[in-house]
Amino acid sequence: MKLRVLGSGSEGNATLIHSETTAVLIDAGFACRELENRLKLAGFMPGEIKAIAITHEHTDHLRGAALFSRRYDIPLYLTHGTRLAGNGQLEKAGRIETVIPEEPFTVGDITLHPFPVPHDAAEPVAYLSECGGRRALVMTDLGCVTVRAMENFRLAHLALVESNHDPELLAIGPYPWPLKQRIKGKLGHLSNDDCMRLLSDAAGEGLGTVIFAHLSRQNNNPNLVRLGADSFIAAAGQRITYEIARQDQPGALHDV
Ligand SMILES: [Zn+2]
Ligand SMILES: [Zn+2]
Repeated sequence: MKLRVLGSGSEGNATLIHSETTAVLIDAGFACRELENRLKLAGFMPGEIKAIAITHEHTDHLRGAALFSRRYDIPLYLTHGTRLAGNGQLEKAGRIETVIPEEPFTVGDITLHPFPVPHDAAEPVAYLSECGGRRALVMTDLGCVTVRAMENFRLAHLALVESNHDPELLAIGPYPWPLKQRIKGKLGHLSNDDCMRLLSDAAGEGLGTVIFAHLSRQNNNPNLVRLGADSFIAAAGQRITYEIARQDQPGALHDV
């Protein structure tokens, strides 16, 4: 199984996961045209995508989902809560399949395990994908690390995890106070510190790749994330490679 981030951040999120025979997207937070372009850069035609698994209804995760689904007849997988919160927008999708948290489903030879995450959305989930005994976690948009999140993180050979903000940059930054409270709250976003703590507390022995994702442009700096990642890896003595996902372009192709 392979994974490539097509883009990540508050302006749009999409991650491509594929095996030899099956390709799926986790989230489709770019406009349809932009999604097509980024897929092309990754060497894929839209019609090759067999499913789009949505995490939650925030625009940066489903902006192009309904149109892309209808145009290429690709099923959208989402929770009932996400569908209701989509306010009819999602009804334009070609096909909709309901995701029930903690009930795995299979697309081709890839199995997706959805599980709930704490975030200020109707029924948000993250996904652990599995193919041939290899597992990739895609987990952004959560305000705190739950036991369940930690369990699934421990199982991952590749983990894409949110490293949204630096608490000090958020505190001194320009955002209004209520928004700052929202971001750092239990239903907001993981900080760099939260993310590094998760890594040092729960990295499994099989973990080979970490992708730091959903970085805030305003309240974070990739160099801070890099510093944290380097010191974690030095301390862990584990052979782990990492990438910092970008908003403006697709990332590297990773073997899971
Ligand atoms: Zn988001
Ligand atoms: Zn969100």
